[in-house]
Amino acid sequence: MWVDMLLIDVNSTIMQATIYANRLPRFRSKLAAGKMFSISGFDVAQCAQNYRLTDSPLLLRFSDLTDFDELAEPVSPLPQEGFRFRNHSELAELANTNTQLPEIIGEITAVKSTVNDTLGEKDRIMATIKLDNDTKVILSLFDSQAVSFHKKPEDMNGDPMVIVATSINPKMVGGGLFLNATSGTHIYFDKETTAGEVYFYNLVARDTGVPSAAPLLKGYAKVETLTVAELNNFITSATSQEIDFICTGKVVRLDVDKGWCYVTCAKCSQKLQRTVSALECTQCNNTNAVGVLRYRVELAIADDTAEGVFVCFDGVMTKLHNLRASEAGQMLLKKE
Ligand SMILES: [Zn+2]
Repeated sequence: MWVDMLLIDVNSTIMQATIYANRLPRFRSKLAAGKMFSISGFDVAQCAQNYRLTDSPLLLRFSDLTDFDELAEPVSPLPQEGFRFRNHSELAELANTNTQLPEIIGEITAVKSTVNDTLGEKDRIMATIKLDNDTKVILSLFDSQAVSFHKKPEDMNGDPMVIVATSINPKMVGGGLFLNATSGTHIYFDKETTAGEVYFYNLVARDTGVPSAAPLLKGYAKVETLTVAELNNFITSATSQEIDFICTGKVVRLDVDKGWCYVTCAKCSQKLQRTVSALECTQCNNTNAVGVLRYRVELAIADDTAEGVFVCFDGVMTKLHNLRASEAGQMLLKKE
């Protein structure tokens, strides 16, 4: 266990500093963002290759000899903030490498939320963010970070326009760029940072005369329109949950390597286990159950964002095929 922090000097150089848990009690009371310190007697070490928080290859490590004193009056003016914003193509290059956790700044254009009034374990936010050059990415936040994001418009008496997100992990899923928050991610809206404020006024200047958009925040429960890429990302980065959505795509393939049907118990619809000479239902505790054929078909469906596998079960497939699974099975038998 340890604590990482970022230090910025008069030259706007940002370095990571690490304090291991055993030394934390000595320094903890002093640790606060925005304060100024003089530091001496520290170790210098190489940064790990993964999840880098700064551009510097080195980091400071607090030791038993470290003096860490707050400066009441700064010796020279220090910058208030320092970000290393990355644009879309830079993020795409970093995607799936786990080498850096960069920062982004952009305009929030849509937000999907699973945050309920009651605190749940599956809280999640997917925010669509427009970066420079009109490129778009989706930022995912989880749990408590999702909850505080969800509450923000309330606190601000309106929807935020500009977002600054730090220490995010870029992922490429199905050809789309997705950004996942990490435990070190901080979110700043509109004028909470100087960089955000500049961005904010640029947007305002651009949008003058344009009526404000509908409220940003929407729940998945209201049957959202989702792309295949968004669904793929949802599955790879969230705990499983039921959502209603509308996804428009085209069936590009039937994946039949896992077959197209399975045998269920005629009595309870549980999948039957094949024994040497019979079919067994563990649910009904029947070693010689009567089997019924049911559909389980994997469809590869694609839209212009990505391709995904959708599993259709009996009811849906019977409708689509206009034929019960048992009838389809009969037809196959006759052919052979
Ligand atoms: Zn059964």
